[in-house]
Amino acid sequence: MDAKAKKFIDPLITNDGKERAYVDLKELKTLWFNSGTRCNLHCQNCYIESSPTNDRLAYITDSEVVPFLEEIKTEKYPVELIGVTGGEPFLNPHMIPIIIETLKRDLEILVLTNAVNVINRYKEKLIEIKNTYGDKLHLRISLDHHTKEFHEKERGENTFDKTIENIKWFTQEGFNISIAGRSLTDENLEQATRSYEELLKKSDIKIDLENGKLVVFPEMDMNRDVPEITTECWGILNKTPEQQMCSTERMIVKRKEDEKPTVLPCTLLAYDHQFDLGETLKDSKERVQLNHKFCAQFCVLGGASCSSAK
Ligand code: SF4
Ligand code: SF4
Repeated sequence: MDAKAKKFIDPLITNDGKERAYVDLKELKTLWFNSGTRCNLHCQNCYIESSPTNDRLAYITDSEVVPFLEEIKTEKYPVELIGVTGGEPFLNPHMIPIIIETLKRDLEILVLTNAVNVINRYKEKLIEIKNTYGDKLHLRISLDHHTKEFHEKERGENTFDKTIENIKWFTQEGFNISIAGRSLTDENLEQATRSYEELLKKSDIKIDLENGKLVVFPEMDMNRDVPEITTECWGILNKTPEQQMCSTERMIVKRKEDEKPTVLPCTLLAYDHQFDLGETLKDSKERVQLNHKFCAQFCVLGGASCSSAK
């Protein structure tokens, strides 16, 4: 076995015999639903491997979502935001009822979308929802890079202009819009923010990116060898368990082979059963051992947070 293959095996102990880092749930602030893994795009580096044919996570329905929304209310969890990720959420035929069920319980909702074609069929309905619930509906649109070249290298041809057009349309219609980018090139966050600002200005789009409306995610290289995180690493890296998403978040998925949805610690680990936390939020409070390369690459070393922009 090479060194890479020996890593991320024992949930409690790392390959070099040290105590593996873990994260306890502090309080549940953001609850994500995965809408299903089908996507109209097939991006080169989709961390959840979505595509037009991937149906490993089924379309979750509003009747499967509602019990979790009810649980939030009855158990008085301090949830501030419901997030929906995919795949492309607007491919899920239950998306509009899911949004309405959330908003009518006085919870804010953030829906992540690639804004290429599929969302267009729901524009009228989304305007009605915005007129009723205002800023409580957030849309985060993925614009992987501020240049067409790098964006389309990742997302495929004819995606950049359509995304820009829809960012413009939704902004002009008064929707609460944020942008999700990726660090595809060597620029730092400040340089990237300036370049996104220039692009928006040139495209006559008014979003104040200084106001938490741009989140740039670290790029994931699935084949890169990454170190395991031990409890000693927190001090060395000057990071804390409380900074990790799984300290304040959970995600609900509906695997196609399962009868019921499953609760997971975060949006990143949809397929790995060692991270299954049960069927209710109450069951899902157990400690999360950081026994996955994404824990190191994306979170602890990459410093990402999925809900850092609304
Ligand atoms: S649009 Fe998003 S979900 Fe779809 S393939 Fe690309 S990264 Fe994955
Ligand atoms: S990937 Fe990140 S958020 Fe998910 S369990 Fe690992 S450390 Fe926690």
